[in-house]
Amino acid sequence: MTLRVCIVDGYIDEPSGLGVPPYLDVYARYSAGAVWLADPRAEVLYLTVDQLRSDISGYLKMLSKLDAVIFIAGVTVPGSYLGGTPISFRELKTWSRLLPEPVKVLVGPVVSFGFGIEGGRAAIMPEELKRDFDYMFHFSFESGLYELALNCFKRGLSISTHERSPKLVAEAAVRGVKIVGQHPNYGFNLICEVETYWGCPRFIVGGCSFCVEPLYGEPKFRAIEHVVCEVKALYEAGVRNIRLGRQPDILAYQSKEVGVEEFPKPNVEAIRKLFEGIRAVAPALETLHIDNVNPGTIYHHKEESVEACKIIVENHTSGDVAALGVESADPNVVKSNNLKVYPEEALEAIRVINSVGSARGYNGLPHLLPGVNFVHGLKGETERTYEENLDFMKKVLEEGLMVRRVNIRQVMVFPNTPMWEVGDRIMKRNKRIFQAYKRRMRMEVDLPMIRRVLPTWSKLRGCYVEKHGGGGTYARQAGSYPVLVFLPYSRGLGEKIDVLVTSHGFRSVVGIETPISVNSAPRKMWESIPGLSRNTIELILKKRPFKNVEEFESIVTKSVADKLEVKL
Ligand code: SF4
Repeated sequence: MTLRVCIVDGYIDEPSGLGVPPYLDVYARYSAGAVWLADPRAEVLYLTVDQLRSDISGYLKMLSKLDAVIFIAGVTVPGSYLGGTPISFRELKTWSRLLPEPVKVLVGPVVSFGFGIEGGRAAIMPEELKRDFDYMFHFSFESGLYELALNCFKRGLSISTHERSPKLVAEAAVRGVKIVGQHPNYGFNLICEVETYWGCPRFIVGGCSFCVEPLYGEPKFRAIEHVVCEVKALYEAGVRNIRLGRQPDILAYQSKEVGVEEFPKPNVEAIRKLFEGIRAVAPALETLHIDNVNPGTIYHHKEESVEACKIIVENHTSGDVAALGVESADPNVVKSNNLKVYPEEALEAIRVINSVGSARGYNGLPHLLPGVNFVHGLKGETERTYEENLDFMKKVLEEGLMVRRVNIRQVMVFPNTPMWEVGDRIMKRNKRIFQAYKRRMRMEVDLPMIRRVLPTWSKLRGCYVEKHGGGGTYARQAGSYPVLVFLPYSRGLGEKIDVLVTSHGFRSVVGIETPISVNSAPRKMWESIPGLSRNTIELILKKRPFKNVEEFESIVTKSVADKLEVKL
């Protein structure tokens, strides 16, 4: 009898790993791979939580006939997402209860760290979900699922969840690749998160007070050939967007000083082999990006970090972001929470990344820019902390540096982290200050910064048109923290377009499709072009259809016409 299993992807967001569409994280791929390793004939289906919501009764009926349903869940860093809405605590409980027949397995960070509701609040403990699932796996979920599948997903087995096996991870990663074809974003803007290691090198000093990553224990690196093999399989399966995002610090990959030094020296040769190896097997990737970089690694090992960043820039695609967990520019908060860097050190890391990555690349964005993460509600935080963070970012602006985005989060508090003792009381106390500060950061830092990173008339290539809303249409490139583009008019979804930036929001740009179809472009599009007067717009609309481009250009001032790319 064929084993029939469905993976319901409720999405994850962890310090090192994102699985909200268009991202597909490793949990679903490795889970499918583990089942297929145990039973190559197994039928493994994949559904996102958003697909399930779109026809709950239909899908629950289908799921109820299967042998097993694997739910993936766990948002341990707060965020808001354009591409999907993570599964809620209530959905997880209710749906599981509505499926009495199949064996239900819960996989993901939720199993260890509970259910993160929102920033500034403590998580719901994992124990609250125990009664609703037959099995719950987190760290060694591949081996748990492999063993379960070998035993045809029988209930009541005693499954050992020993340490993750790099060999099983490597095999499951390659086997599970074929699940990508079932993802709703496949063939469009799907981006696969790829893991290079797990565990934070700062585990030796206990890690940052709020972070769950040190709970993975000593970092375990995946072999270069395992990562390259997986990328090759993904590429052959049609994936064109890859992010090496599953690790706390890409510069620490394969470092020989891990386990010895708090800030291990980058292993430049390993980073070279990794990136060049990926490029050799996946030459036409549309996106090859990274994610987290520990600013402390850059500060303590400047020369090696510059080398490593140069290798990344030589092999990646532009628009890449090195997300720096600065967390706080208040020295008291840095000290009280065992954070990575003091403000001057963080500033130096920002300078270094700018020195290597600020040149503009093919897709219209600088090659590699830092992103800055701040976390609020930490120990030692006072009103002064908010001022320090603003001052820090203003210094970045004044120095003429670029930062791709400033991420301001309220701490999510998880068990077994030092912040668990403190809970959410500091965040609650500072809630009002937080909102005002956030507004100031948006106005005084984000707006001038996005204008610097993407000035008016910049061209952004390859934006995927994703969603309608706000009286217009949203589009984004594929990548690490892609810039949100708002087209101030309605247009069809599901296409890839180039965009001309016409103005700026705090953290987004307003743009129009380019080249402009002069005979059919809607009025709202013309209205958003700077320098076009109302009279000219009326004239354009009245004179349509134009017989040729010259006819159109004859009624538009030269300074504007020079900026536009048009077609009939
Ligand atoms: S450096 Fe801090 S925030 Fe980053 S992964 Fe390690 S413990 Fe977490």
